[in-house]
Amino acid sequence: MKVPCSSKESSAGILPGGIYIHVPFCIQKCLYCDFYSITDLSVADDFLHAVQTEIRLRNKTDNLFDTIYIGGGTPSALKPLKIKTILKAVFSSFAIARNAEVTMEINPGTVDSADLTAYRKMGINRLSIGIQSFFESNLRFLGRIHTAGDAEKTITAARSAGFTNISLDLISGLPGQTEKSWINDLEQALLFSPEHLSCYMLTYEPGTPLDRKRKKNLFTPLEDPKAGSLFSITGQFLSRNGYQQYEISNYARSETFYSKHNRKYWRFHPYLGFGPSAHSFSDHVRSWNHRSVETYIENLGREILPVENTEILNREQQIMEFIYLGLRQTDGISMDDFYRQFGKRFETVFSGTITFLENRQWLQTKEGKCFLTPSGMLLLDSIADMFLQNEPL
Ligand code: SF4
Repeated sequence: MKVPCSSKESSAGILPGGIYIHVPFCIQKCLYCDFYSITDLSVADDFLHAVQTEIRLRNKTDNLFDTIYIGGGTPSALKPLKIKTILKAVFSSFAIARNAEVTMEINPGTVDSADLTAYRKMGINRLSIGIQSFFESNLRFLGRIHTAGDAEKTITAARSAGFTNISLDLISGLPGQTEKSWINDLEQALLFSPEHLSCYMLTYEPGTPLDRKRKKNLFTPLEDPKAGSLFSITGQFLSRNGYQQYEISNYARSETFYSKHNRKYWRFHPYLGFGPSAHSFSDHVRSWNHRSVETYIENLGREILPVENTEILNREQQIMEFIYLGLRQTDGISMDDFYRQFGKRFETVFSGTITFLENRQWLQTKEGKCFLTPSGMLLLDSIADMFLQNEPL
């Protein structure tokens, strides 16, 4: 199935939306992961049926959508025909832009050349590949199911299948990692000239097996200053190699390859989420689905939308998210946008905090934008808190 030409172009003033589909299956849980997914694929067909029902029930909008993102979990744990079924339902229920970015997350060890060719043929035009590391010892530490060799084969096969927009995920901050070994991971990735890279720092999420091992002192985590220095050299190394950082963890060869879908989350554009735990957002209203696959399937079996909760963001929450999401992006907070949205000048309301942070070279203001420096990026959460706690809103 190809991406069809849309019969409905975006009506003036309405931002094109994004569609997210959460496929909640993984072959095995990675030790660090706290995303919602299950390893029991026996309910995959019931899930497929349920997600098609959800897409049909939510088909109440004339809005145009220009991104589709199939994430998870491991969407490639499902065979191409199943993914095609989901995409077909989306294309037949919503107006999808002619040039829509259609991304799918895949993991090495779950796809072969034929699968990749099938994904490309059905209209998926961007892949996000979970590589994490090219070192076997790191992959084993993280509990990944694949080897470095599998990762290399998958990227090569994706190129052969015709994918010209590929993003690779890597993780830094692993125990024992050095600047040299992290740069080596980045160099390995660049051998494949990916259009996009997402470089995340390892975090120990409460309740994950890795966090439990850490608490039992079964390994020695990398010290914070060392992890911070790996973050800093990532930006410098990738910039020397032609990649622009546009968000705290994301780099692209040019603006063309910025993730259009993920930018919607950071810019308050509307999006619709399908599947267990998926979130939707529009006009300051956020809702999210039940996390449990069983509850999700059971609700949709009765033709009930599987929404667990809805919140209307109040003014304080809107300001909080505007600041936090703005600071994540390298082009920062637009002070004019802040004024348009909240009726107050950002630089006036937050003058004390801005001066404090500028004096420490953690933040800069230039040409109507307020953005974090590379050293400020390391302190993102604390700096966002500072804005929210120190100033009257
Ligand atoms: S493959 Fe991805 S979603 Fe699945 S357990 Fe591993 S990190 Fe989590």
